[in-house]
Amino acid sequence: MKKYRVIIMAIIAMGIILIGTSDPLTSFYKTTGLIINGMNKDLKDEKSNSNTNNSTKENNEEKNNLSKDNSKFLICIDPGHQSKGDSNPEPVAPGSSYKKARVSSGTAGVATKKPEYVLNLEASKILKHILEDKGYSVIMTRESHDVNISNSERAIFANNKNADLVVRIHADSLDNSSKTGASILIPEEGGRYTASIYEESNKCAELIKGSMKNSGIQINGVFQRGDLTGFNWSKVPVVLVEMGFMSNYNEDQMMSNPDYQRKLMQSIADGVEEYFKTR
Ligand SMILES: [Zn+2]
Repeated sequence: MKKYRVIIMAIIAMGIILIGTSDPLTSFYKTTGLIINGMNKDLKDEKSNSNTNNSTKENNEEKNNLSKDNSKFLICIDPGHQSKGDSNPEPVAPGSSYKKARVSSGTAGVATKKPEYVLNLEASKILKHILEDKGYSVIMTRESHDVNISNSERAIFANNKNADLVVRIHADSLDNSSKTGASILIPEEGGRYTASIYEESNKCAELIKGSMKNSGIQINGVFQRGDLTGFNWSKVPVVLVEMGFMSNYNEDQMMSNPDYQRKLMQSIADGVEEYFKTR
């Protein structure tokens, strides 16, 4: 009987020891070798973590190299219009006797009631950040609403800064409220004032169009315009993105949605990046 008592005491003691450890199951697995599967998994996780770290490092290095290259390109963003239009006339082209209003306040949203100049600056600021993240040098013709900069003055500003590209950001409006979609405007081919910048402007516009299509954004096409003061005064490649129609209820609301703004500006920036790869 004494023998059994010793065995029972031993079993109770083992039980107390097992329960006393912080993780009795693990202790049990450890002693029995059942932990091995779990440990292998941990090792694998660690390995894949270090892989991720390595590739992140490589990506960062790549990004830094890319940024260094991209910083030599200067992009001028022109958020269209301003809080108060200026109807004083200015020549539509250097030396032209034909004159148009210096600058207008633009359209307004049928649903949001937001003025176009507000939407244009919202979107332009997002575009600026995305392009800067890609490493480009970016300047803006305006960063507030209460300014008075005419369309020719905006073009001359970019000329004087020797910008590599001007991206003008606008939104459309039409009597037909069912019309939707983005458009890209470029200077006229063979235009008297813009012949030298047509080809590059068109190349950039086509790449932005392709990028927008890839992002699932409705894009109506690339259209040449010989009547825009901002184009005719430009000495550097220029594209004007009409983001969509503020005269369409749904599209007006969509253009004020931060997620859509980011998606749209990302697609423009990606197209711009493709364009600079060709330069
Ligand atoms: Zn506009």
